[in-house]
Amino acid sequence: MRKPIIAGNWKMYKNAAEATAFAEEVKASLPAAEKVDAVICAPALFLQSLVASAADTDLKIGAQTMHEEQEGAFTGEVSPTQLKDSGVEYVIIGHSERRQYFNETDESSNKKVLAAFEHGLLPILCVGESLEQRESGETGAVVEAQVEKGTAQLSAAQAADLVIAYEPIWAIGTGKTATAEDANEVCGIIRKKIASLFNEETAEAIRIQYGGSVKPANIEELMSMEHIDGALVGGASLEAESFLKLLEAGA
Ligand code: PEP
Repeated sequence: MRKPIIAGNWKMYKNAAEATAFAEEVKASLPAAEKVDAVICAPALFLQSLVASAADTDLKIGAQTMHEEQEGAFTGEVSPTQLKDSGVEYVIIGHSERRQYFNETDESSNKKVLAAFEHGLLPILCVGESLEQRESGETGAVVEAQVEKGTAQLSAAQAADLVIAYEPIWAIGTGKTATAEDANEVCGIIRKKIASLFNEETAEAIRIQYGGSVKPANIEELMSMEHIDGALVGGASLEAESFLKLLEAGA
Protein backbone atom coordinates (compact mmCIF):
# COMPACT_ATOMS: atom_id res chain seq x y z
CA MET A 1 0.00 0.00 0.00
CA ARG A 2 1.33 3.42 -0.99
CA LYS A 3 0.90 6.17 1.59
CA PRO A 4 -0.79 9.24 0.05
CA ILE A 5 1.26 12.41 -0.10
CA ILE A 6 -0.32 15.86 -0.28
CA ALA A 7 2.20 18.63 -0.93
CA GLY A 8 1.47 22.34 -1.01
CA ASN A 9 3.51 24.55 -3.31
CA TRP A 10 3.33 28.10 -2.04
CA LYS A 11 5.34 29.45 -4.99
CA MET A 12 6.36 33.09 -4.29
CA TYR A 13 3.50 33.87 -1.91
CA LYS A 14 3.21 34.74 1.81
CA ASN A 15 5.23 36.80 4.25
CA ALA A 16 6.98 35.47 7.37
CA ALA A 17 4.05 36.11 9.73
CA GLU A 18 1.59 34.41 7.36
CA ALA A 19 3.89 31.41 6.96
CA THR A 20 4.14 30.92 10.73
CA ALA A 21 0.41 31.42 11.28
CA PHE A 22 -0.32 28.79 8.63
CA ALA A 23 2.01 26.25 10.26
CA GLU A 24 0.48 26.87 13.70
CA GLU A 25 -3.04 26.32 12.39
CA VAL A 26 -2.22 23.26 10.30
CA LYS A 27 -0.13 21.43 12.85
CA ALA A 28 -2.96 21.66 15.40
CA SER A 29 -5.28 19.60 13.15
CA LEU A 30 -2.98 17.33 11.13
CA PRO A 31 -4.41 13.91 10.20
CA ALA A 32 -2.50 10.89 11.52
CA ALA A 33 0.95 10.50 9.97
CA GLU A 34 0.26 6.85 9.10
CA LYS A 35 -2.54 7.96 6.82
CA VAL A 36 -1.00 10.76 4.78
CA ASP A 37 2.28 12.61 4.32
CA ALA A 38 1.66 16.35 4.65
CA VAL A 39 4.29 18.57 3.04
CA ILE A 40 4.56 22.33 2.59
CA CYS A 41 7.03 23.55 -0.03
CA ALA A 42 7.75 27.14 0.90
CA PRO A 43 9.93 29.98 -0.39
CA ALA A 44 13.55 29.38 0.71
CA LEU A 45 13.46 32.33 3.07
CA PHE A 46 10.83 30.71 5.31
CA LEU A 47 12.15 27.17 5.35
CA GLN A 48 14.07 27.35 8.62
CA SER A 49 11.30 29.03 10.57
CA LEU A 50 8.78 26.54 9.20
CA VAL A 51 11.02 23.63 10.18
CA ALA A 52 11.16 25.11 13.70
CA SER A 53 7.36 25.59 13.82
CA ALA A 54 6.78 22.04 12.58
CA ALA A 55 9.32 20.43 14.95
CA ASP A 56 7.78 17.54 16.90
CA THR A 57 4.84 17.37 14.50
CA ASP A 58 4.30 15.32 11.35
CA LEU A 59 4.19 18.33 9.05
CA LYS A 60 7.10 18.03 6.62
CA ILE A 61 8.81 20.97 4.99
CA GLY A 62 10.04 21.05 1.40
CA ALA A 63 11.86 23.48 -0.89
CA GLN A 64 10.59 24.49 -4.33
CA THR A 65 13.90 24.04 -6.14
CA MET A 66 17.62 23.75 -5.43
CA HIS A 67 21.01 23.76 -7.16
CA GLU A 68 22.64 20.40 -7.76
CA GLU A 69 26.07 21.37 -6.42
CA GLN A 70 26.92 21.18 -2.71
CA GLU A 71 28.47 24.62 -2.69
CA GLY A 72 30.09 27.12 -5.01
CA ALA A 73 29.91 30.49 -6.72
CA PHE A 74 26.23 30.29 -7.71
CA THR A 75 24.77 33.57 -6.57
CA GLY A 76 21.21 33.31 -5.34
CA GLU A 77 21.07 29.51 -5.30
CA VAL A 78 20.47 27.09 -2.43
CA SER A 79 22.31 23.76 -2.20
CA PRO A 80 21.04 20.31 -1.19
CA THR A 81 23.35 20.26 1.82
CA GLN A 82 22.06 23.65 2.99
CA LEU A 83 18.48 22.37 2.71
CA LYS A 84 19.29 19.14 4.53
CA ASP A 85 21.18 21.00 7.23
CA SER A 86 18.13 23.24 7.78
CA GLY A 87 15.86 20.27 8.40
CA VAL A 88 14.14 20.33 5.02
CA GLU A 89 12.97 16.87 3.87
CA TYR A 90 11.49 17.31 0.39
CA VAL A 91 12.35 19.33 -2.70
CA ILE A 92 10.27 19.97 -5.82
CA ILE A 93 12.36 19.44 -8.95
CA GLY A 94 11.62 20.57 -12.49
CA HIS A 95 8.30 22.33 -11.84
CA SER A 96 6.90 23.59 -15.15
CA GLU A 97 7.38 27.19 -13.96
CA ARG A 98 11.08 26.45 -13.41
CA ARG A 99 11.23 24.91 -16.88
CA GLN A 100 9.36 27.81 -18.48
CA TYR A 101 10.98 30.81 -16.73
CA PHE A 102 14.37 29.52 -15.56
CA ASN A 103 15.42 27.28 -18.45
CA GLU A 104 15.34 24.06 -16.47
CA THR A 105 15.30 20.89 -18.55
CA ASP A 106 14.95 17.14 -18.11
CA GLU A 107 18.74 16.96 -17.93
CA SER A 108 19.12 19.61 -15.22
CA SER A 109 16.19 18.06 -13.34
CA ASN A 110 17.96 14.69 -13.45
CA LYS A 111 21.13 16.21 -11.93
CA LYS A 112 19.04 17.75 -9.16
CA VAL A 113 17.12 14.52 -8.49
CA LEU A 114 20.42 12.62 -8.16
CA ALA A 115 21.87 15.33 -5.90
CA ALA A 116 18.74 15.33 -3.72
CA PHE A 117 19.06 11.59 -3.09
CA GLU A 118 22.80 11.86 -2.54
CA HIS A 119 22.19 14.37 0.24
CA GLY A 120 19.21 12.69 1.88
CA LEU A 121 16.37 14.79 0.46
CA LEU A 122 13.25 13.32 -1.18
CA PRO A 123 12.64 14.82 -4.62
CA ILE A 124 9.21 15.47 -6.12
CA LEU A 125 9.92 15.36 -9.86
CA CYS A 126 7.36 17.26 -11.96
CA VAL A 127 6.40 16.16 -15.45
CA GLY A 128 3.52 17.11 -17.73
CA GLU A 129 2.52 18.10 -21.22
CA SER A 130 1.53 21.46 -22.72
CA LEU A 131 -1.93 22.04 -24.18
CA GLU A 132 -0.49 21.85 -27.68
CA GLN A 133 1.12 18.50 -26.95
CA ARG A 134 -2.12 17.16 -25.45
CA GLU A 135 -4.14 18.31 -28.43
CA SER A 136 -1.77 16.66 -30.86
CA GLY A 137 -1.96 13.35 -28.98
CA GLU A 138 1.61 13.45 -27.66
CA THR A 139 0.87 13.34 -23.93
CA GLY A 140 2.01 9.76 -23.31
CA ALA A 141 5.23 10.08 -25.29
CA VAL A 142 6.11 13.46 -23.74
CA VAL A 143 5.58 12.28 -20.19
CA GLU A 144 7.40 8.97 -20.76
CA ALA A 145 10.43 10.83 -22.12
CA GLN A 146 10.43 13.24 -19.17
CA VAL A 147 10.27 10.32 -16.73
CA GLU A 148 13.05 8.42 -18.49
CA LYS A 149 15.40 11.41 -18.64
CA GLY A 150 14.51 12.67 -15.16
CA THR A 151 15.20 9.29 -13.51
CA ALA A 152 18.39 8.41 -15.42
CA GLN A 153 21.04 6.74 -13.25
CA LEU A 154 18.76 6.29 -10.25
CA SER A 155 18.88 2.94 -8.50
CA ALA A 156 15.63 1.02 -8.24
CA ALA A 157 15.59 1.71 -4.49
CA GLN A 158 15.92 5.45 -5.11
CA ALA A 159 13.22 5.37 -7.77
CA ALA A 160 10.89 3.64 -5.32
CA ASP A 161 11.34 6.58 -2.92
CA LEU A 162 10.95 9.22 -5.62
CA VAL A 163 7.67 11.11 -5.87
CA ILE A 164 6.54 12.00 -9.40
CA ALA A 165 4.02 14.81 -9.83
CA TYR A 166 2.05 14.60 -13.06
CA GLU A 167 1.13 18.21 -13.74
CA PRO A 168 -0.37 19.01 -17.14
CA ILE A 169 0.89 22.54 -17.80
CA TRP A 170 -2.48 23.71 -19.06
CA ALA A 171 -4.10 22.80 -15.72
CA ILE A 172 -1.69 24.68 -13.43
CA GLY A 173 -3.19 27.80 -11.90
CA THR A 174 -5.84 27.95 -14.63
CA GLY A 175 -8.81 26.46 -12.78
CA LYS A 176 -8.89 23.71 -15.46
CA THR A 177 -8.43 20.26 -13.98
CA ALA A 178 -7.77 17.14 -15.99
CA THR A 179 -10.68 14.73 -15.53
CA ALA A 180 -9.92 12.15 -12.88
CA GLU A 181 -9.95 9.48 -15.62
CA ASP A 182 -7.48 11.38 -17.82
CA ALA A 183 -5.19 12.11 -14.87
CA ASN A 184 -5.33 8.46 -13.82
CA GLU A 185 -4.57 7.29 -17.34
CA VAL A 186 -1.38 9.39 -17.52
CA CYS A 187 -0.34 8.41 -13.98
CA GLY A 188 -0.80 4.78 -15.12
CA ILE A 189 1.45 5.43 -18.13
CA ILE A 190 4.08 6.83 -15.75
CA ARG A 191 3.84 3.78 -13.49
CA LYS A 192 4.21 1.46 -16.48
CA LYS A 193 7.25 3.41 -17.64
CA ILE A 194 8.83 3.07 -14.19
CA ALA A 195 8.20 -0.70 -14.39
CA SER A 196 9.99 -0.88 -17.73
CA LEU A 197 12.90 1.34 -16.59
CA PHE A 198 13.32 -0.36 -13.20
CA ASN A 199 11.02 -3.24 -12.19
CA GLU A 200 7.45 -4.05 -11.11
CA GLU A 201 8.23 -3.71 -7.41
CA THR A 202 9.54 -0.18 -7.92
CA ALA A 203 6.51 0.72 -10.01
CA GLU A 204 4.20 -0.54 -7.25
CA ALA A 205 6.06 1.47 -4.62
CA ILE A 206 6.57 4.82 -6.35
CA ARG A 207 4.08 7.53 -5.42
CA ILE A 208 2.56 9.52 -8.25
CA GLN A 209 0.74 12.77 -7.55
CA TYR A 210 -1.61 14.71 -9.77
CA GLY A 211 -1.25 18.49 -9.82
CA GLY A 212 -3.24 21.17 -11.61
CA SER A 213 -6.04 23.16 -9.98
CA VAL A 214 -6.62 20.57 -7.25
CA LYS A 215 -9.01 21.89 -4.60
CA PRO A 216 -11.22 20.52 -1.83
CA ALA A 217 -14.08 20.13 -4.32
CA ASN A 218 -12.23 17.80 -6.69
CA ILE A 219 -9.59 16.01 -4.61
CA GLU A 220 -11.74 13.11 -3.49
CA GLU A 221 -12.50 11.97 -6.99
CA LEU A 222 -8.86 12.30 -8.00
CA MET A 223 -7.69 10.37 -4.93
CA SER A 224 -10.14 7.55 -5.64
CA MET A 225 -8.20 6.67 -8.80
CA GLU A 226 -5.93 3.63 -8.88
CA HIS A 227 -2.72 5.36 -9.93
CA ILE A 228 -3.10 8.71 -8.12
CA ASP A 229 -1.34 8.65 -4.76
CA GLY A 230 -1.62 12.29 -3.82
CA ALA A 231 -1.60 15.84 -5.06
CA LEU A 232 0.79 18.71 -5.61
CA VAL A 233 -1.26 21.81 -4.95
CA GLY A 234 -0.58 25.47 -5.59
CA GLY A 235 -3.45 27.91 -5.03
CA ALA A 236 -5.52 25.72 -2.72
CA SER A 237 -2.55 25.14 -0.40
CA LEU A 238 -2.26 28.79 0.58
CA GLU A 239 -5.05 28.82 3.16
CA ALA A 240 -4.69 26.52 6.17
CA GLU A 241 -8.37 25.60 6.17
CA SER A 242 -8.29 24.53 2.54
CA PHE A 243 -4.97 22.65 2.94
CA LEU A 244 -6.42 20.77 5.92
CA LYS A 245 -9.42 19.74 3.83
CA LEU A 246 -7.04 18.40 1.17
CA LEU A 247 -5.16 16.44 3.82
CA GLU A 248 -8.39 14.99 5.20
CA ALA A 249 -9.43 13.88 1.72
CA GLY A 250 -6.00 12.35 1.14
CA ALA A 251 -5.92 10.47 4.45
C1 PEP B 1 1.44 23.80 -8.78
O1 PEP B 1 1.90 24.86 -8.43
O2 PEP B 1 2.18 22.82 -8.87
C2 PEP B 1 0.01 23.72 -9.08
C3 PEP B 1 -0.49 22.57 -9.45
O3 PEP B 1 -0.74 24.87 -8.93
P1 PEP B 1 -2.35 24.99 -8.87
O4 PEP B 1 -2.80 23.96 -7.87
O5 PEP B 1 -2.61 26.38 -8.41
O6 PEP B 1 -2.86 24.68 -10.23
